[in-house]
Amino acid sequence: MLDQQAPCPRCRSVQTVPISWGMPTEEAEHDAAAGRVVLGGCLVGDGDPGTQCRACGHRFGAARS
Ligand SMILES: [Zn+2]
Repeated sequence: MLDQQAPCPRCRSVQTVPISWGMPTEEAEHDAAAGRVVLGGCLVGDGDPGTQCRACGHRFGAARS
């Protein structure tokens, strides 16, 4: 279930993780604690980024629904 993550367009780091939008599930909180996802918050809007760079914090890409 691990997707290939796109490199950060700002710093080219491949240390990027998917952003989990919406009310976090127990699994999402577990993954966030392990650094596998970033919790984006429970307010979901149009055009939310789908990926966050762990190196510089830049958010990019389109959220997958
Ligand atoms: Zn970056």
